[in-house]
Parts: sequence; structure tokens; C-alpha cells
Amino acid sequence: MVGSGIAGQVAALSAVEHGLSVLLLEKTDRLGGSSAMSGGWFAFSGTDEQAAKGVRDSCGQFFDDLLSVGNQENDVALVETFLTYQSDTYNWLKGHGAKFGELSISSGQSISRSHLTAITTLLSNLQDRFLEGGGDTRLEHRVTRLTRDPDGRVSGVVVELPDGGCEFRARAGVVLATGGFSRGTDLLKIFAPEQLAAMPYGATGNTGDGLRMAWKLGAGLADMSHVSGSYGSHPETGEDFHELLTAYYLGAVVVNQAGRRFTDESQDYKTLGAEVLKQSGGLGIQIFDSRVRAMSRPGVPLKDIDALEDIGHVHRARSLRELAEIVRIPPEALQETIDRYNEVVSGIRSDELGRKSLCNGVGDLILIDAPPFFAYPARTLLTTTYCGITINPQGLVTDVDGAVIDGLFAAGEVTGGFHGAAYMTGTSLSKGAVFGRVIAQTAASQIDA
Ligand SMILES: Cc1cc2nc3c(=O)[nH]c(=O)nc-3n(C[C@H](O)[C@H](O)[C@H](O)COP(=O)(O)OP(=O)(O)OC[C@H]3O[C@@H](n4cnc5c(N)ncnc54)[C@H](O)[C@@H]3O)c2cc1C
Repeated sequence: MVGSGIAGQVAALSAVEHGLSVLLLEKTDRLGGSSAMSGGWFAFSGTDEQAAKGVRDSCGQFFDDLLSVGNQENDVALVETFLTYQSDTYNWLKGHGAKFGELSISSGQSISRSHLTAITTLLSNLQDRFLEGGGDTRLEHRVTRLTRDPDGRVSGVVVELPDGGCEFRARAGVVLATGGFSRGTDLLKIFAPEQLAAMPYGATGNTGDGLRMAWKLGAGLADMSHVSGSYGSHPETGEDFHELLTAYYLGAVVVNQAGRRFTDESQDYKTLGAEVLKQSGGLGIQIFDSRVRAMSRPGVPLKDIDALEDIGHVHRARSLRELAEIVRIPPEALQETIDRYNEVVSGIRSDELGRKSLCNGVGDLILIDAPPFFAYPARTLLTTTYCGITINPQGLVTDVDGAVIDGLFAAGEVTGGFHGAAYMTGTSLSKGAVFGRVIAQTAASQIDA
């Protein structure tokens, strides 16, 4: 198992539960990768939390939403596999320490489907159970190469250590769960040069090693043209605090440094990320009033306005003019923008940018007229890449012609195909978990056969 994020840890523990002996190799000196930095939102349907809130969801609606967000470019076989196992995986995660509390509608969803859990607690539970089950974890073990038997089957890995190197053989196969390449400047230069202007984020180990290793063996690649950062994180976002605010889904608008709106803010935050990169300074400023401010959810990622005001990243003013001066945009332009927007909300005019809802077709627009007013300047953050090597529905890597590369599996952000053109919030963690379990099942059945 190469990589210790959600995909690697779920695959590792599931494989142990299937009776396999598993070695988990992690390049950095800490476990968890981007998964440990994440908001902890998992997308599932048909859950207890949805039932408790009267939310009627179905696999059919989930399928439609995934394909709609993905612009119908998704690998349908992977989406169907995901939907077949998502409910079972949700229950498995609950049985392994996930406590889904908050339920929310998020980017790309037509219904509340994002379930929040304390992700670092979940990851450490998975690790504890993996070790209790006889698994072996090694930190600072960077896998640099895949080895193959004479018949071409992937049979092991070469590892670089702080003081040398070594080789491990793998009877049931090698699983690449090495995450994306949001930190991989060389790969970004090839596949998404425009994203070099975004703020690099995600785990420091996510430089695309797994993608390169599989690519070298002829693996196919999917969704490579759809790398997009997410909007909006403050320009001074730090490494240890996940800062991304989506006040626009609560009722805020986003303006550029000229004080003008430039896009429909109800779109998914990766589409917004691409739009914001085109603005001067790569900056989009979220503007809202006391109504939206009152919807802050302390401790809830994407909605915790309190925490961002406490650290001085959200600015407050009694009037729009004063607010504009604080964030250095022309006051007249901002006033005019908000006046026009309020006319849209009041039904006096239709929005020239096409906004009709708060988020993805859901929720009525609300006026921005109740002081005090607030501003959150934010940029596009490249947290993830969501594209990569092709796999089949059993989690085996396929080559450029679609043939399986024997002995090589992949799960999580290193893989492409599932999301298509864009990502629905919560589906990266849930996809990593679902395919991690699928891989364990495939590997165990191949050993038994
Ligand atoms: C700030 C932030 C918030 C997010 N919020 C959400 C959210 O709420 N919901 C959601 O679904 N998604 C979210 N995402 C995206 C999601 O977290 C990731 O896409 C997902 O966690 C990836 O999981 P993974 O297991 O594939 O990879 P990771 O969790 O990134 O793990 C990959 C691991 O592999 C290791 N590795 C890399 N190369 C090697 C090598 N050569 N040898 C050994 N180890 C190696 C890395 O060091 C890393 O630890 C967020 C991402 C970020 C950055």
C-alpha cells in the first residue's frame, strides 16, 4: 500500500480484514496526506442522517448529479461501482469510528448529501485497527519505482529511505494511493499550467509520484484537462488551518478589485476557482451583510465566519462605502453592484450573469442590505487535482489501450475518470473509501482464486 490518506488507509484496513498481510508505506513523516487536512465532508446517499432530517435522496439522483457536475464526461462504470458500494462503505466507516453529525448541501449537489465527520479522529481509528489487525506502517518510506516479474505482473516496490533504499515484494499486488499532484510543479506545467497562478495547497507529499510510476508502465490517464483550484481562501491561508469560506452559497456575492461581479456565484467552487484566476490579482472578494454573518457555523468547515473574523481575514464595516475603503475597491462601484444585485433579488431585473439561486439551483437569493457589511478577500487554492491514472471498476490500473496492468491497483485522488469535468463536494473522501474497499476485495479474491 503506497500512501496513507483515506484511500490507502481504508484499503489497508479492509485488506487486513480480508486476511491479507499489508505493508503501508508513507513518504512523509506523518500519516494522512490531504485527507488529514480536509474538511471531512463525505458524500453519501440514503443515510440515517438524511432520514432524520427528512431528506429523500436516491442513488439515481446521486448519479444524475455526479454526471451533471462532471459534464457527462465521467467514466460511468466507475460511477456505477461507486453507487453500488457507497451505502455499504458508509456503514463500514460508521463501524470504524466515523461519527457523521452535520448534514449539508454543498457544491454540485441538488440535495443535502455532505456528511461531516472529524477526519483526523477517523484516520487515527483506521490506523489503530490496522495495526491491531497485524498491519505494518512505515513512515519516511518514499516509493520511487514499481518492480515487475518477467511476465509483466507488478510484483513490488523500490523505496527510498533517509539513509539508503530497499525493495519490498508484494504477492497480492501494489496499491497506489499516493494522492494528487497539487504540489507537483512539473506535472502542473504539463497538464494545467494556468493553475501555477493558484495558491499551492494539499499535502506536501502530493507531487504526483504514483501517477508518474504508473504512467511509466503505460497506464492510461483521464480528466487531465480538468484540474481546477477551489475558490475561496484568504491570500494568507496557512498550512495548518483549513481556510476556505463559501459565504456565496449563503447569500454573498463575489466582486473583483474593480468592485464588479463577474460570474454566477451559485456554480460549483471549482468553476468559480477558474473564473477568479482570470481576475486582476487572482482575487475575488466575498461581500455580505449581517444576515449571512448570522449563518456562520463555528467549527464547520466552509461556513465558519466567526473563526475567520477572529483572525482578521473577514472585515466588518457599518456601510458599504467604509467596507470598500477597507478592502481597497472603488466605493461607488461596489454600491452600484450591490444595488443592481438587490434589484435582481427583488425581481425588478434578471441577473445578467445568470444567478438564480444560492447554490446549484437550490435556495432563494437574499438581499444584501442589513448592516454591518462584511468582506472576505479570497483567492483560488489548488487543494487537489482529481485526475490521473485510469482504473477499472475492480480498482486495477488499466493501460492506454484499456488492458489491465496485472498486480497494480490504484485508489483515491491519484486516479482519473470518476469525476469527469468537475468535482462534487465530499466525493473525493467517499470515492477513496469506496474504491479502497473494492480493491481489498479484488486483491483478496485474486489470492483465493
Ligand atoms: C484543505 C482541503 C480540504 C478538503 N476537503 C475535502 C472534503 O471535505 N471532502 C472531500 O471529499 N474532499 C476534500 N478534499 C480533497 C480530499 O481531501 C482529497 O482528495 C483526498 O483526501 C485524497 O485522498 P487520498 O487518500 O487519495 O490521498 P491523500 O490523502 O493526499 O494521501 C496521499 C498520501 O500518499 C503519500 N505519498 C505520495 N507519494 C508517495 C510515495 N512515492 N511513497 C509513499 N507515499 C507517498 C503522500 O505523502 C500522502 O500522505 C480536501 C482537500 C484539501 C487539501
